[in-house]
Amino acid sequence: MMAAMGIDTGQGVLTVDLGAVVANWRDLSARHDASCAGVVKADGYGLGAAPVARALHAAGCQTFFVAHLTEGVALRAALGAGPAIIVLNGFAPGADEDAGLWPVLNGLGDVEAHAAAGRAAGVPQPALLHLDTGMSRLGLDAGEQARLGQDRARLAGLDLRFVMTHLACADEPAHPLNAAQAGRFAAAAAIIAPAVPRSFANSSGLFLGAAFRSDLARPGCALYGINPTPAAPNPMRQVVELQVPVLQVRDIAAGDTVGYGAGYTAPRNVRVATVAAGYADGYLRSLSGRSLALFQGRAVPLIGRVSMDLTTFDATDFPELRPGDRMMLVGGAGNTPDDIAARCGTIGYEVLTSLGHRYQRRYIGGA
Ligand SMILES: *Cc1c(COP(=O)(O)O)cnc(C)c1O
Repeated sequence: MMAAMGIDTGQGVLTVDLGAVVANWRDLSARHDASCAGVVKADGYGLGAAPVARALHAAGCQTFFVAHLTEGVALRAALGAGPAIIVLNGFAPGADEDAGLWPVLNGLGDVEAHAAAGRAAGVPQPALLHLDTGMSRLGLDAGEQARLGQDRARLAGLDLRFVMTHLACADEPAHPLNAAQAGRFAAAAAIIAPAVPRSFANSSGLFLGAAFRSDLARPGCALYGINPTPAAPNPMRQVVELQVPVLQVRDIAAGDTVGYGAGYTAPRNVRVATVAAGYADGYLRSLSGRSLALFQGRAVPLIGRVSMDLTTFDATDFPELRPGDRMMLVGGAGNTPDDIAARCGTIGYEVLTSLGHRYQRRYIGGA
């Protein structure tokens, strides 16, 4: 409210470029040469499931994936009737309270429960069937697939919209598990659900070639600008920028220390800039001493430990920097979510989904 009235709340500003999300979805759809869904689980990878899904829906996206039932119910309220909303983690029959969500059936027990509900209601229940081909996480395992293949009558009462599987190593094109999963999926789907449309590739899988094409790809990370081809330059457009205000600038002398654990000792006189974001805002503590922010496009090195609400930078080379100025904590050349992740041994997905809710969010662009 205050932000809407133009008052400076002193918070960081997270800018999400919905035009870039839509452009990325169009690019992926063209590459796939078939339908692409939008994966908006975990609140649209931390960027806002409702605004992201509304922008994609306006651009023609008809199918969305979330992880939890509650995410699906919230997304239905945001999107209204029309687009398909699929719940990857599944849910008990009837639990969607008429939101019209489709569960992913991740085991034979799920198949039986939803099929029985469909037979009891006299209305086949829409659902997706998930075959595990190498993740060993969710999905019918090989034994369950064999049993279902021998007794397809168990599917009576279901209206299967897609049969799906999920790649374990799609971001490593040369990994032998990719081809193995494609082969297992094709073989099992042909026996269990030959007439049902298929859903296969995630973002990286879209770049693996024709054997990974399906009726519905499920890109997530690439929509949000994460590189789906980590060994090659990023073909996607960047989506996020995080600007945080400098709260104070101070001069310290050689030998003075900065922050918890006295984790940094000034080797000379140093100008310290303290900004209003920390690990509670998803600026991961493991970035301590090994990251940077951008000020007017130039790198400002992080010094000391990242604390909960504050992070310190060496602004010695920036005599013009003043309290109230904003530094780019995430975004800009050499400072993408993937770049930041690489500095602290994680992946861009975790940087995005950790961003938290203390920023003012600004959505630009759109369909
Ligand atoms: C998260 C997820 C996706 C999207 O994966 P990305 O790597 O973000 O493109 C697709 N399918 C399933 C089953 C998922 O869990």
